[in-house]
Amino acid sequence: MKEKSEYLNKFHESIFAKMSALAKSTGAVNLGQGFPDFEGPSFVSKYLIEGVQAGHNQYAPSPGYLPLRSALSEIYKNRYQLEYCPETEISITTGATEGIFSTITALVNPGDEVVIFEPFYDSYVASVEMRGGIPKFVSLGGSEFNFDEGELKNAFSGKTKLVILNTPHNPTGKVFSDTELGLIRDLVIKYDSYVISDEVYEYLTFDDHEHTPVSKIDGLKERTIVISSAGKTFGYTGWKVGWCLAPRDISAAIRLTRQYITFSVNTPAQYAFSKCLTEIDNYLPEFQKLYDGKRLMVMKALDDLGWRYFRPRGTYFIMASLEGVSDLGDVDFCMDLIKKAGVVFIPPSVFYRKSNEGKRWVRICFAKSDQTLKSAIDKLSLY
Ligand code: PMP
Ligand code: GLN
Repeated sequence: MKEKSEYLNKFHESIFAKMSALAKSTGAVNLGQGFPDFEGPSFVSKYLIEGVQAGHNQYAPSPGYLPLRSALSEIYKNRYQLEYCPETEISITTGATEGIFSTITALVNPGDEVVIFEPFYDSYVASVEMRGGIPKFVSLGGSEFNFDEGELKNAFSGKTKLVILNTPHNPTGKVFSDTELGLIRDLVIKYDSYVISDEVYEYLTFDDHEHTPVSKIDGLKERTIVISSAGKTFGYTGWKVGWCLAPRDISAAIRLTRQYITFSVNTPAQYAFSKCLTEIDNYLPEFQKLYDGKRLMVMKALDDLGWRYFRPRGTYFIMASLEGVSDLGDVDFCMDLIKKAGVVFIPPSVFYRKSNEGKRWVRICFAKSDQTLKSAIDKLSLY
């Protein structure tokens, strides 16, 4: 048989699938893969049933169910004072993952360079490499996950087509500051590149941190593709409904590629989220309080155990340091933890290509029921 495609040599099973399978086969408590292990609000599933019963069961238009696009347009206008036309500038995708891939497919030619901050969400590098693009990494390092300005400047060149940002940031819980976004903006404009801004955790920020959509930064709206997803916000990650917001000509390019990737997205789920997003203001305070309670619970447990960690400003992840906990690297530590304590975390070194810093951290997901978190905390104290 002839060889399969050569980019496959670069890929492995995702760390999320691997660690969830280990949790299943060993019976360990799973604080690894990022999904809630409890039901999302019941109004969401009621709207899905309503959508099915009202006959929203055939292909949606390829750019998305229009009332969902209109609900998004209203949200961006009211919350962020950003204008996106539902007809031409908002497209619905099969989760953020497909939005990222379709956008990269629409923009990147083989040999184009793409600036990616590490640790990165795993689909970025895979999607860029599937298109023959060349990732250029900038490390978020130290205990605060800051980047070095010189390293950022060096990552850019005349070949830079695109920069991928993620704020609030998975896995670190960092929220990029306006100063950091300003530095990135200056280089993006200097090198005439595009920005993909993955904002799937836009509604999960804590303490006094607030999310700034990257397209709000002066000079970036015309070159930014904002990507987000309903999965995190409503706690229904399995429904896979996401969206891309971008100026008309970029949206048209994304729509062309999407026609041949998924064509369109599950219609009743789009119907349901169109209703949910219309009511989002009533829902968000309760959602944020729920997740903040879980964040504080895990931080307190880590404090009691004497573990150091980065206090997450957003997302539902905590990066805990192995300094003073174990001399093992992250992967060996995670395996040892499953064996000795029956708890699954994510070893983050797979999210780095350039630096070794991932070996000294583990990622803990707190999007779990209080019972699951308590059980993991009890077990951790045995380690
Ligand atoms: N981006 C980030 C940063 C994520 O954490 C995730 C998934 N958790 C995604 C994209 C993918 O989102 P979706 O499930 O909507 O495809
Ligand atoms: N985004 C989720 C995480 O960070 C995982 C999604 C997936 O498994 N692809 O854990």
